[in-house]
Amino acid sequence: MHELGIVYEVIKIVDRFAQENQLTRVDKIVLEVGQLSQAIPRFLEECYPAAVSETAYEDTKLEIIVLPANAKCKNCNEVYNVIKYRKICPQCDANQYELISGQEFNIKEIVAY
Ligand SMILES: [Zn+2]
Repeated sequence: MHELGIVYEVIKIVDRFAQENQLTRVDKIVLEVGQLSQAIPRFLEECYPAAVSETAYEDTKLEIIVLPANAKCKNCNEVYNVIKYRKICPQCDANQYELISGQEFNIKEIVAY
């Protein structure tokens, strides 16, 4: 499960940020994960407790905001979810589209004291 490695990377970035800003306690980490990202939100949540166990982040909460895999149809400009509609435009049945969102993986927010 490569999500564990991703969680370790996130913790490393948060740790660096916390040190640079002299934060004593990080309350919450908010991630933005696209539906088409390499990381699966459910797996991230599952391996997070193991990754932070017995670290300074043991009590830090993890929140994941899932961004939809939205695309714009090149034929009719309809915006639709490519997972829900299996890459076929629900308006005109074309399968030529431009992805608008869904590949993100960002640390959106670090809530700390
Ligand atoms: Zn269309």
